[in-house]
Amino acid sequence: MSLFSSVEMAPRDPILGLNEQYAADTNPSKVNLGVGVYFDDNGKLPLLQCVQAAEKAMMDKPTPRGYLPIDGIVAYDNAVKALVFGADSEVVTSGRVATVQAVGGTGGLKIGADFLKRLNPQAKVLISDPSWENHRAIFQNAGFEVGNYRYYDAANRAIDFDGMIADLNAAAAGTVAVLHACCHNPTGYDITAAQWDKVVEVVKAKNLVAFLDMAYQGFGHGIAEDGAVIGKFIAAGLNIFVSTSFSKSFSLYGERVGALSVVASDKEEASRVLSQLKVVIRTNYSNPPTHGGAVVAAVLNNPELRALWEKELGEMRVRIKEMRQKLVDGLKAAGVKQDMSFITTQIGMFSYSGLSKDQMVRLRSEFGVYGTDTGRMCVAALNSKNIEHVCASIAKVVA
Ligand code: PMP
Repeated sequence: MSLFSSVEMAPRDPILGLNEQYAADTNPSKVNLGVGVYFDDNGKLPLLQCVQAAEKAMMDKPTPRGYLPIDGIVAYDNAVKALVFGADSEVVTSGRVATVQAVGGTGGLKIGADFLKRLNPQAKVLISDPSWENHRAIFQNAGFEVGNYRYYDAANRAIDFDGMIADLNAAAAGTVAVLHACCHNPTGYDITAAQWDKVVEVVKAKNLVAFLDMAYQGFGHGIAEDGAVIGKFIAAGLNIFVSTSFSKSFSLYGERVGALSVVASDKEEASRVLSQLKVVIRTNYSNPPTHGGAVVAAVLNNPELRALWEKELGEMRVRIKEMRQKLVDGLKAAGVKQDMSFITTQIGMFSYSGLSKDQMVRLRSEFGVYGTDTGRMCVAALNSKNIEHVCASIAKVVA
């Protein structure tokens, strides 16, 4: 008998499974709206100019690859702090933020989850219903019981804000509330600034722990605008967790560049927290990789490259918005009677289309248009060449 004879086959990742199906599809007009990746108008994954410029400078002056500190490149961590909280903010200047470089945004969530489990083993975790697939798994794997707070209101194609607040209000003190800082994945619906104020109020009143997942900063309304929500929690005097991902905003998916920032009450507390985050990292993968972090630090810390990044990120953001409008217009032109204008009120890379599982299956099998069974489509993968086919296909399945 083999050591592994009792090993069960794990369920396939639904989105990666979709990718395999897409790759095998021979339909010449096939379109992949399944994965959360930004493609340019030619359907290509962009390699940002700011990234290329930073890499060229690095190649011109090659450096050896020693181990990084456990918490990563100092200049990178400082750049993340400045980006997320503001370089001149009180939390940064007083030294009460502990930031560590992480293996993507996923890594930031995982380090935070492991640290939280040691801090408060009895706590429960609440994620939005629905949420990014991996939220539940990451926190469950860290040993937490994970529940939901209400978020998407399918009947009204809106956010069930009263439900969200009621569920947060009902949570026990110490509960970790995982919140999408901007560009909610998968629905594309964000709460308003005034609603954020209410969330902050409840988090404070009920002694919850806010864990803000910031995977799309700059894809919503702008870098500062999307980051503003963090300032609300800080202004309320809360100790918060923020995970950052540069996968999308730098188009550096495979480099795995992210971070975790923890806002403590003072500098001394932050240094104790940092020491524990380092234990988590050390016992998982020892220290982070060099290249992606070095590129992002080089861009964020150089005024010219930083300006170029902001311009390129702005172009991605604007193109997505244009595609949303074209989708709404195109669906109307293709004969869809129902009002689809909700697509332009959604924000970020995704749209919950409101299509049923059966309709999504038909879109795939009959038209080669791939979205998830939940009706989620990645609008960042639409372009001037595929939009007509997508609109015509959706029109056929909703007719
Ligand atoms: N959080 C959310 C909400 C995401 O959508 C993603 C990426 N799909 C991540 C975290 C993880 O980002 P990364 O790829 O940098 O690990």
